[in-house]
Amino acid sequence: MRHYLNFDKMKEKVRVMNERSYDYEESFYNKVDEFLESSEGHHVKDVLVKGFEHVLSHVDEEIKVIEKEVGLNKSCEIGCAHCCYFPIMVTKLEVKLMLQYIEQLPLERKEKMMEHFQQYVKTFAPQLEQIKDLDYQKDVNFKHQYKKLNLPCMLLDEQTNTCLAYEVRPTPCRTYMNYVPPKVCSEQHVPKEPISYEFLHNFYVQGMDEIIQTILEVVDDTELGFSYPADVMEVQYLPLLLKEELINRGVFK
Ligand code: SF4
Repeated sequence: MRHYLNFDKMKEKVRVMNERSYDYEESFYNKVDEFLESSEGHHVKDVLVKGFEHVLSHVDEEIKVIEKEVGLNKSCEIGCAHCCYFPIMVTKLEVKLMLQYIEQLPLERKEKMMEHFQQYVKTFAPQLEQIKDLDYQKDVNFKHQYKKLNLPCMLLDEQTNTCLAYEVRPTPCRTYMNYVPPKVCSEQHVPKEPISYEFLHNFYVQGMDEIIQTILEVVDDTELGFSYPADVMEVQYLPLLLKEELINRGVFK
């Protein structure tokens, strides 16, 4: 039988984790430099999308190193998707990069996703209107309010409870982890037990900035379908920005 930590033991592990001395900035910069060196001569569009995937996956790698060091085993498992009903905040640039990633997938997978998106905006039209009124900057309860709507993420396959774009899921999906019995997530809207490695988000942003700045030395952002830094200024709920971008691309009205 699987043994889970209790809340107090988990808090003790978090205390040890917080005392860890480690240069995350250097680790992300080294990863990006290695990536850029290995990408020389490749098409900039590929470098951009692969770089996005690469920096995101480094967030997972850093978490795995911490877990190993501190002795933490996550309780999150495939098929458990409670956190996919949370508000996931992203920028326009992230949504555009996710769509560029989806664009280069095999036709069958891509078509399945587009059908899913079409169905999603029809099924959840009322909730999509409601979240427009949830001000994440002013309303301290926005997470609770959002979760109570029971609105799945636009990228969640509700049949399998898996992410349709797992390889490029945003950082909030990677940094939110549970180490105590999984029932805490099914029994509460916003459980206090899971922890967030959200501090890694800033290093991911710096890493992506380095990749983008390097790319912009050789090609204009508009040629790559985004506007920098304007597209990183707006942060919004993932389904709203994804729907907006799909409308801009004429995928649906
Ligand atoms: S992007 Fe994927 S992992 Fe993240 S909330 Fe959406 S479905 Fe879940």
